[in-house]
Amino acid sequence: MSNKVNRAQRRRLFLSNLIGFSLIFILLGVIVFVLFSRAMLTSTDQALRVEESARLQGPPKPFQRKTKFQGNVQNQHPFMTTTLVYDQKGKITNKLQLGSRYDTLKNIKLHRSQVGQLKTIKVNGKYNFRTLLIKAPKTTSDKSVAGKYLLIMENIDPQKAAMRNFTRVMLITMGIFWLLSILMSVWMSRLTMRPILKSWGRQTEFVGNAAHELRTPLTIIQNKLEFLLTKPNDKIIDQAANIAIANSESQRLQKLTHDLLALARSDSNTIQTNFEATAVAAFLQHTVEPYTEIAASQGKQLVLAPVPAFKAVLDQDLIHQLMNILIDNALKYSPQGSTITVTAQPLGRKWQLIVADQGIGVTGRDRARIFDRFYRVDTSRSRQTGGNGLGLSIAHWIVDLHHGTIAVRDNHPKGSQFVTTLPVNPPKNGHHETKK
Ligand code: ADP
Repeated sequence: MSNKVNRAQRRRLFLSNLIGFSLIFILLGVIVFVLFSRAMLTSTDQALRVEESARLQGPPKPFQRKTKFQGNVQNQHPFMTTTLVYDQKGKITNKLQLGSRYDTLKNIKLHRSQVGQLKTIKVNGKYNFRTLLIKAPKTTSDKSVAGKYLLIMENIDPQKAAMRNFTRVMLITMGIFWLLSILMSVWMSRLTMRPILKSWGRQTEFVGNAAHELRTPLTIIQNKLEFLLTKPNDKIIDQAANIAIANSESQRLQKLTHDLLALARSDSNTIQTNFEATAVAAFLQHTVEPYTEIAASQGKQLVLAPVPAFKAVLDQDLIHQLMNILIDNALKYSPQGSTITVTAQPLGRKWQLIVADQGIGVTGRDRARIFDRFYRVDTSRSRQTGGNGLGLSIAHWIVDLHHGTIAVRDNHPKGSQFVTTLPVNPPKNGHHETKK
């Protein structure tokens, strides 16, 4: 992916992550703030209501602590409340009871329309009160308040201070977390882009390699045809060598396109599979047999060692293709007079398929890389043998599809062994579609 696209995509991912985080933090902050401020006022409002019912039921009694035996607090006076009693004209009538507090509270006006409402007010520009205005009916037993307006008040300065502190702490915490979320967004956008960039790189490499591989045989065919056009009077026999080369190159092209198609399908996961319980011995016999003749024609021997009777669940077409690739390679990379041995055996819940040859073998770091697409140990040799470096990557994909493993190891005294280990009963998952 070009750097510009990559950067733009990363910026978009970063922004969307950051917006997501910010929204979550803001929402969290608002919810916590609203709940906290409500909870703060709830206890005050309850106290005002308690005072209201106490006032309407009788004259004030001294405050009593609630004990185990006095479950009902309805008639008790909350400790912190103060009550202003107004007459019909709005004049405070309980000046004596208020004592020194009167001077602070005398400026509070009566708002008759607010009867029954809970309000928050500020007195003298500095004291905060929560208030409840009630009108005592004329029938109230406490004659000092009967027919009058009562403004029950509770000072909420401590709650306001706590709220301010809480808001400050919350803003600082949210700020810190928001900064952390920036770092997190950078990290997450990088993390998300990494596999995309990797597969993009692989894809670009694959297309580049494929184009390169396709170009060589096409150029050869084109050259041969152009040469033939310069000899319109020649007989086919005269140009048999050139025609044969063009023909073998077109066969090479056909195999290459076939392999490329298989890999493209493997990438898009659109392959249809047909897993069925298979008697391995008979299946291998059937698969290996055609190759014994080809091996013999090349002066090599292909042997299928006796296979114990057991069944395994597999896709016959795909395992057939795997065998083709492994036996084809074994034949390609081993000399005349050598023997290729195919063995299969059950191993508990797995089974193993080994194709061993006495050929050139695979050494050191090539062991892991030969399963990569287009990787060939010896390019010039591979070209002579018609290889394109895709066989083993297809083999690897087939084994993957069966939830198995494939590895190469030394064959003693000479050559290599391709060891495929497959589960007898591969797990079914949504990895691929099933053939209808
Ligand atoms: P190719 O079409 O080139 O054979 P493969 O993917 O099948 O592509 O194999 C990749 C490379 O692995 C080959 O080019 C060859 O170098 C090496 N290789 C594969 N099979 C064998 C083998 N049986 N013995 C030695 N080398 C092998």
